[in-house]
Amino acid sequence: MIDVHTHVLTVWGGKEALTEEELIKRMDELKIDRFVVLPIGASPETPYFYFGTEDVLEVYSRHPDRVIPFCNLDPRQGYNSPETDFSWILNKYKESGCKGLGELTANLYFDDHLCLNLYKHCGKAGFPIIFHLYNRFGGSYGLVDDIRLPRLEKALKECPETIFIGHAMAFWSEVSGDVQEETRGGYPAGKIEKEGRLQELFNKYPNLYGDLSAGSGFNAITRDSDYGYKFLEEFQDRLLFGTDLCHVVQEVPIVDYFRQGLKEGKISKITYDKITEENAKRILRLGD
Ligand SMILES: [Zn+2]
Repeated sequence: MIDVHTHVLTVWGGKEALTEEELIKRMDELKIDRFVVLPIGASPETPYFYFGTEDVLEVYSRHPDRVIPFCNLDPRQGYNSPETDFSWILNKYKESGCKGLGELTANLYFDDHLCLNLYKHCGKAGFPIIFHLYNRFGGSYGLVDDIRLPRLEKALKECPETIFIGHAMAFWSEVSGDVQEETRGGYPAGKIEKEGRLQELFNKYPNLYGDLSAGSGFNAITRDSDYGYKFLEEFQDRLLFGTDLCHVVQEVPIVDYFRQGLKEGKISKITYDKITEENAKRILRLGD
């Protein structure tokens, strides 16, 4: 299994956070072979202790067979200009072993010119982007989009070379057509009677992927269990398994959900293999 979303954190909201050793231990217990470690703190909106790209690369140097390092930048870096050349930095990180960028947490509009510029440079470097989507300005971190995700669509259209991997509540609540302004920032429950914007965007844009980690991704596939399994089969080429592990006592039910689903025949072997491993290998170019 490849987990596309983990962190090393020294302190997490007063809870015992996840050191490098604890992360490796949890991954061993969960029998997850390889995992993406995402830097934290590139944008000032994240309330955690800084753990930057260079720190992730150090973890990678000690566990090159297990860790898949990502780099992170803030779209405002480089003189707060939409002309900033990020390519030379991204290429340096690529030479150091990085396979993508994220998670992007700047509290800017998704289609802000600063962001579009960074996305285009990531496309050129061959770096997929994991982004945290948020429903408003202030109060938390994450790129901002409106209901029904028009700004994400603009970026998908304007940056066809860039692979976007969606994460967090404002992204996954759009799995249902009945999402409301009041519910889109949380974990809406209930049957999915009508498909949402996500299915529409997955069908229309080959550069969109979904990161199933955290409560948001898990809620999207379990709020209506029959529909959830159907969704996995239908978008088997575009979904990625992940946990978003960030503290020691965190439960990650998605691991058993996939293993049990396979055992019980609710998830086909081909879909299981793609979502838990093959898609990540392909888009992160792990063979390179
Ligand atoms: Zn995360």
